[in-house]
Amino acid sequence: MSSKLINGKEIGSQIRKSIAKEIEDLIEKGITPGLAVILVGEDPASQTYVANKEKACHELGIYSELIKLPAETSEEELLGHIEKLNSNPAIDGILVQLPLPKHINEQHVIEAISSDKDVDGFHPVSVGKMLLGQPTFLPCTPNGVMELLKYSNIDVAGKHAVVVGRSHIVGVPMGQLLLQKDATVTYCHSKTPDLQAMTKQADILVVAVGRAKMIKSTHIKEGAVVIDVGMNRDENGKLCGDVDFDDVLDKVSAITPVPGGVGPMTITMLMVNTLLSAKMKLA
Ligand code: NDP
Repeated sequence: MSSKLINGKEIGSQIRKSIAKEIEDLIEKGITPGLAVILVGEDPASQTYVANKEKACHELGIYSELIKLPAETSEEELLGHIEKLNSNPAIDGILVQLPLPKHINEQHVIEAISSDKDVDGFHPVSVGKMLLGQPTFLPCTPNGVMELLKYSNIDVAGKHAVVVGRSHIVGVPMGQLLLQKDATVTYCHSKTPDLQAMTKQADILVVAVGRAKMIKSTHIKEGAVVIDVGMNRDENGKLCGDVDFDDVLDKVSAITPVPGGVGPMTITMLMVNTLLSAKMKLA
């Protein structure tokens, strides 16, 4: 059973080890990669994500700067902070933790970040380059999924990949990255009339919806690879994915657990992007 598990914690730690040496070499050359994280408000989940990002920076020797702003911060004020970070040479990556309070326009904020420091890969310039297959900052979660597949020797070429969810940060880029690796991609979303008919065709099923345990064994083809991006709380308050892990386990050939699957990869890929940005100073 355990051989079916795609262990994101383990793969993430392997990748971090491999970039730790590169970071050390860069620091010796006088370049310390720097990441600035802006957190607006007191959302507990966001606070945890931000703390984990800071911890990862610390472990790798990446300089990190946390800017904590109150929930009532105006959009203008937030844009002012971004502007300063854009021109701060010690900062290679800028991340504004989402979601933002309702009175702030997320798109304005994303577009205010210099595309050279867009380590989240959400800026329209990064998105456009990703779609064109040009080198750029790839969004951390879908890029992390691609790494999980690569490290698990799962070849996506020629496979039918079904992506459930079409958010700009996970679902849409996920399908594009799979397409670039020659998968045949189907997107599903809340208006898909017969979800099960679609998911049952998947050789590789990626689920990014945000509904606890919605994918059951009846949604899955025998031998499918299942990637569960969802992070939810079940009826007992326990962290769980969008896939009913216990229900599907016998049917799948490989699966990411929640926690310990996709989650650790997201932060790892953020570190990779920050290093990538800092390395541009060598050019
Ligand atoms: P969004 O809420 O932005 O998007 C959810 C998507 O799911 C939408 O495209 C929506 O369709 C679709 N959807 C909703 N209900 C259904 C349904 N019944 N059937 C099929 N599709 C449906 O979520 P995110 O993409 O931001 O996140 C998805 C999940 O992934 C969440 O649990 C989140 O916490 C988690 N996540 C985990 C990360 C990690 O590091 N592990 C990182 C980022 C997110 P429509 O577009 O039609 O509304």
